[in-house]
Amino acid sequence: MTGTETNTNRPGTEAVLARDVRKGDVVLAATMRTATGQLAILEHSDPYVADPQADKPNCQCPGHEALTADERAKPLVVLYDGEIWDFACDVVPADEYVIVKKRDEQADDLPKLTPTKRNGGTFEYNGRTVYVYPQPGAPSKWRVTANGKVLAAMCATRDEAVRRAIRVLDGDTTALTGWALLARALTL
Ligand SMILES: [Zn+2]
Repeated sequence: MTGTETNTNRPGTEAVLARDVRKGDVVLAATMRTATGQLAILEHSDPYVADPQADKPNCQCPGHEALTADERAKPLVVLYDGEIWDFACDVVPADEYVIVKKRDEQADDLPKLTPTKRNGGTFEYNGRTVYVYPQPGAPSKWRVTANGKVLAAMCATRDEAVRRAIRVLDGDTTALTGWALLARALTL
């Protein structure tokens, strides 16, 4: 049984039971057991943002039609039924693993980020668009810019980066760390 160790060698991905997928997780791959009992990973060519719901037993979409009799006999969960897959359900056995990139948790006191392809997001603050994204060259750290100026750099968490950036935007220059000041000096 190797399921929980399975990963796709991409940072931030993990294997979770389909029943534990949460709204907002990005589903990258399904898994299936081979005849020898090994876990095989089937990568989705079109990953989607999960919106789990209970199974829809009478659904006649291509996803439901493709279920095998074995699968139909198991508890199922619909992880997605939106337009990326032409409104076919991704309906999977609740106790099979899927590979996900877990949704980013965000503190309630911070502005909601609009996701971007750079794995970060943007938010509006006092009429400005603020960009939050992994630090170039150090992708486990976070950087925030607005109007081409660095507001926060090399922050350990995205929330910390956003908090610092908001303080800077509010006029608190003490919130600028050495890293942010250095980045400003280099980009001016
Ligand atoms: Zn369906």
